Amino acid sequence: MRYEIDHDIHIHSHLSLCSNDPMQTKENILAYAIRNNLKYICLTDHFWDENIPRANEFYEPQNFEHIKKALPLPESDSVKFYFGCETEMDKNYRLGISEERFDSFDFVIIPTTHLHMMSFTIDEKDTSLERRADLYVARLDKLLDMDIPFHKIGIAHLTCPLMAPNNKDDHLKVLDLIPDKVFKELFSKIAKKKAGFELNFSFFQYEGESLERVLRPYRIAKECNCKFYLGSDAHHPQGFDYAIKNFSAIIDALDLKESDKFKIKN
Ligand SMILES: [Zn+2]
Ligand SMILES: [Zn+2]
Repeated sequence: MRYEIDHDIHIHSHLSLCSNDPMQTKENILAYAIRNNLKYICLTDHFWDENIPRANEFYEPQNFEHIKKALPLPESDSVKFYFGCETEMDKNYRLGISEERFDSFDFVIIPTTHLHMMSFTIDEKDTSLERRADLYVARLDKLLDMDIPFHKIGIAHLTCPLMAPNNKDDHLKVLDLIPDKVFKELFSKIAKKKAGFELNFSFFQYEGESLERVLRPYRIAKECNCKFYLGSDAHHPQGFDYAIKNFSAIIDALDLKESDKFKIKN
């Protein structure tokens, strides 16, 4: 059976400072889910735990007190609305979530590819593409060695352009620098830990050879038996218009089945 588009578990509300869109309400998010026959969705606003010192300026106000303003979340007869967050890993490989705080969330998204926050996630001296490729591998590897509840963790946007934000194609060059063998080692670990592997990239922004380059890590992840979830990473209502079509194109390109799906456990 083809992988069914029945969820979107990476969504931001207006509470995320990079959304700050009064139209991005929990009610509008639920309406998007109902409109598209989704069965479950998850709110994943940006989050840095107040118990972890030295947040940067962007994360500092986005503590638990702030993101919990979204609670309680509205649900419908057909849609389950989970409460999650998207936290961060800083340049010293520290996570922005304390051990105890995992209990407050149904699902926690962790990106290792946010290498656009100079001096917070990456050092000024580290900006070459080669160095970014090393960091891609090291950050993911460190994360996967942590003692954290992987059954409720999603590894976010592993081909995110923010890993090398200066030029349009730089993130593809960074991915090209990582051999299949290294991806296989990393992604086998994701599969073994039973963490979710996020499907999130703008399919229609790539074509031909570029599309093959961005698909390579996902193909390897599938080979490694990773389980995938859909995440639009929408910050605005317009983000939803594109999401379903985008999910569908990714599912077809990777020929994903229901058995490839990551699920949030209650
Ligand atoms: Zn992100
Ligand atoms: Zn996000």
